[in-house]
Amino acid sequence: MKNKFNSACNYFFSNFWLKKIFPTIVLFQIIACSNEGLFFEDAYVIENVGIIDPIDGLELNMSVVIKENKILDIFKTREMVLSPKNKVYKGTNKFIIPGLWDSHIHFAFEKDLATSMPNLFLYHGITSLRDTGGEFDFVNKFKQEAISNPKTKSRVKIAGPLIDGKFNVYDGSNIYFPKLSIQNIDNNQLERNVRLLIDKKVDFLKAYEMLSPAQFKMLSNLAKENNLKLTGHVPLSMSVIEASNLGLNSMEHLRNLELSMTKMSEKLFQERKNLLLNKSSIKGSELRSLIHSKQRMKSINDLDSIKINNVIDALIKNDVWQIPTLILYKNFANKTFKNPDYLQFLNLLPEERKEVWIKKINAIDNVINKDVVEYTVWSKKMVDFMHDRGISFMAGTDTPIGFLIPGLSLHQEIQELYESGLSELEAIQTATINPAKYFNLENSLGRIKSGFIADLIILDKNPLESISNTKSIHAVIKEGHLMNRSYLDSLMK
Ligand SMILES: [Zn+2]
Repeated sequence: MKNKFNSACNYFFSNFWLKKIFPTIVLFQIIACSNEGLFFEDAYVIENVGIIDPIDGLELNMSVVIKENKILDIFKTREMVLSPKNKVYKGTNKFIIPGLWDSHIHFAFEKDLATSMPNLFLYHGITSLRDTGGEFDFVNKFKQEAISNPKTKSRVKIAGPLIDGKFNVYDGSNIYFPKLSIQNIDNNQLERNVRLLIDKKVDFLKAYEMLSPAQFKMLSNLAKENNLKLTGHVPLSMSVIEASNLGLNSMEHLRNLELSMTKMSEKLFQERKNLLLNKSSIKGSELRSLIHSKQRMKSINDLDSIKINNVIDALIKNDVWQIPTLILYKNFANKTFKNPDYLQFLNLLPEERKEVWIKKINAIDNVINKDVVEYTVWSKKMVDFMHDRGISFMAGTDTPIGFLIPGLSLHQEIQELYESGLSELEAIQTATINPAKYFNLENSLGRIKSGFIADLIILDKNPLESISNTKSIHAVIKEGHLMNRSYLDSLMK
């Protein structure tokens, strides 16, 4: 079929009788034939580019036609004669990948930065976002703005607030724990709160660490009834296998995974149950930190290969995805943000935010905690192991937590995933087709195929040769709207 493109007029006449019979077929409206070649009306062509589809991989010397918000057609450059009337962008020596997702962000973590975040994401080619926790009205504003401006704002999927238990962690008591979660004293309150969020149309739900098993079960049932994915941190009152069997669809930060993988898991579980009674009535955030500090490294240092495999088997059986946020851990462990060259990244922030971040960074000492480093090394090994076993990953960062720059940090996360054992193409999948699948959008988003939404990045260098080339952004296309380098740079002024 594509060979007929050799001559635009061949193509026209081969369809002539077809057109007579079906005069309204789409082709007739969009393609005009002349002696000079094929003309795509109200469209543009990226000519002779290397396309990198996350499933099919690289194909060189291709031309991509974009009309309105979609990829209209893709063909081999040499098999098509184009009319000079077409609007053409030369793609020679460039590469196209789908627009990227950051699948773990928090608009509400630093509200004074939030309004600058959309441009930072776009500038870095992040065309879709998954907000994993914040007050509904606040994060919904960003979602609605994106729906109203699909060509200039990254799409936003929201969980609304984290659903936490009686001892709520992100209660808004200080800058480290802004109000990202809602407290639920009991099952009734949880049901009311969650039904309200579902009525307001959240895109998924997020379970948090202080939920009781009964609360988690209710949350999971509500999610299932309403066809919503349930992500989260495994509640400290439960094992990973229990939460996974009850319907946890994805895990953020590998959180509390190790507690179910250690030889001491039963003993630690008893200890947690007592601690969770919270007899001295400390704050939720303090209680959680206390439990982590008592149990995390103990677990990592006494792992049990049978338990590890049992947990992984359950995650596979229940198709539980992982968003390991490796760059978050690495940044914390190595205190990378204290390096003088990190300043260059901070220049991307608005001046007054940059000053606030520098003050906060300067207040942190230079001491490297070897436990945190060890945990980070373990996380990467666990990602490698899970990947070998066939578990699905999404790239997410937690930006702006941990001084991670919105947008830039997603490229760093892709690099981390690559270094943990994923191939270059698999690392790209974690930020393209995988999140599309997670939200059941895999037939319209996250690939370079005819009919798919044209969220794309044109790169100067091939990311399959070096994964860091995802940063060599020449242009970003959001729903067909092409933003070139100088436009993207202007977003940062
Ligand atoms: Zn988070």
